[in-house]
Amino acid sequence: MPSALKSNNSKLWEDCLRYVSLRIKKSSFHTWFKHSLGVLDENDKLTIMVPNRFVADWLADRYSELIDEAVREVNGSAVDFFFEIKEESDDDGQTKIEFLKKPAENPSNSNRDNFLNERYRFENFVVGGFNQFAHAAAMAVAEAPGKTNYNPLFIYGGTGLGKTHLAQAIGHFIYENYPQKKVMYATSERFTSDFITSISNGTIANFTSQYRTADVLLIDDIQFFSGKESTQEQFFHTFNDLHQSRKQIVLTSDRHPRETRGLEERLLSRFASGLVADLQPPDLETRVAILRRRTEREGTTLPEDVLYFIANNVTSNIRELEGCFTRLLAYSSLEKSSIDLDFATRILGKEIINPRREITIQKIQKITAEFFKIELSMMTAKKKTSEVAIARQAAMYLARKYTACSLKSIGDAFGGRDHSTVIHACDLIDSRIRSDFEFGEKIKNLSALLN
Ligand code: ADP
Ligand code: MG
Repeated sequence: MPSALKSNNSKLWEDCLRYVSLRIKKSSFHTWFKHSLGVLDENDKLTIMVPNRFVADWLADRYSELIDEAVREVNGSAVDFFFEIKEESDDDGQTKIEFLKKPAENPSNSNRDNFLNERYRFENFVVGGFNQFAHAAAMAVAEAPGKTNYNPLFIYGGTGLGKTHLAQAIGHFIYENYPQKKVMYATSERFTSDFITSISNGTIANFTSQYRTADVLLIDDIQFFSGKESTQEQFFHTFNDLHQSRKQIVLTSDRHPRETRGLEERLLSRFASGLVADLQPPDLETRVAILRRRTEREGTTLPEDVLYFIANNVTSNIRELEGCFTRLLAYSSLEKSSIDLDFATRILGKEIINPRREITIQKIQKITAEFFKIELSMMTAKKKTSEVAIARQAAMYLARKYTACSLKSIGDAFGGRDHSTVIHACDLIDSRIRSDFEFGEKIKNLSALLN
């Protein structure tokens, strides 16, 4: 890395790196962040330079949210960020920069349709038995927005199974085929933060008109509305307004409306009033097909045995599947070696057979609740007996330790608690483990159950 650039590493990015390093595994930080460089320009745009496009893709896919969170935390407000590839310096000592993509969102920008990820199109969506129904419903809605009975279209399924991809594919399709229609995509978190910002800035009218003038509203991950009552109220009105004027609404969630906790009944029944379609984990053939499609898109190929090695071992999450592929490419480019089964086993073996990667907050909550003999629902409840509180705090601590989830998403998963509550819980458990041997052993035993 040229020293001129190095000295330009912005204070903002250095602070962000510090923030990030405290929140993800050391090995992940080392692989994905260590060699990055952040430059803040005069327009307050942050350019994050990384060694190659695999790292850029990986960061954009997996860590955009965390980077966004870090920037907000450090800077006090959001900053647009871009990824660029910093090639090794050539003869004249200049660094070549290749523009890659801009994942960051600016809530005040009304061209929300531009925030659709280029990759998430129908053309790149592999269809198999596990997702056929959801795919067909999505296509129907995309072809005739607002004109089918599939309104809202509610897509649900586990993490990494293609909810965001499908929702955005609908957005792309409509954007291209009905250029006069205003397509808006937002996560429920973005909706919430836009709403809160509009209240504090006194610009609620703008907020309302922005969302309510959409012809197609795609809201991703509505489970994060849980526990946020005034946002739910606001969303309820937006929903009704659009629905009455026969605008298309598409919602995604990690579970069926009936099983969603912390959302008002009237919302849930509205959500289930159109078509509810689920996404299941893909079968082996589809997993191989997805990997194959992905390699083609990167203009490369993987030996069959490597494809099957990955597809056989990563079964329940397409993001993980792609992650393995990205990691292989990144390492092969860093080590300048070709990818064969030995290489794949060396790079991925530990990851793939290490079931820790499969630990989710939900799993932690379930096992911790059983371990402490409390109801699972107490994990998200407001109730605060000391017994319940300790179990909940232990679960937050474990979620922090064994998942890559942000403090914010951990808080959300525990009934919409904020990130300071999570930090507090982690500190409490941490210090009790140090001071109370028996308790420490208990947490050790509990951790063993997660693997
Ligand atoms: P979710 O929103 O359900 O957590 P995503 O939509 O973000 O999952 O999908 C995770 C990754 O898997 C994305 O990179 C997406 O492109 C890819 N993916 C999901 N489903 C498919 C599919 N059927 N075909 C190809 N890629 C897929
Ligand atoms: Mg998603």
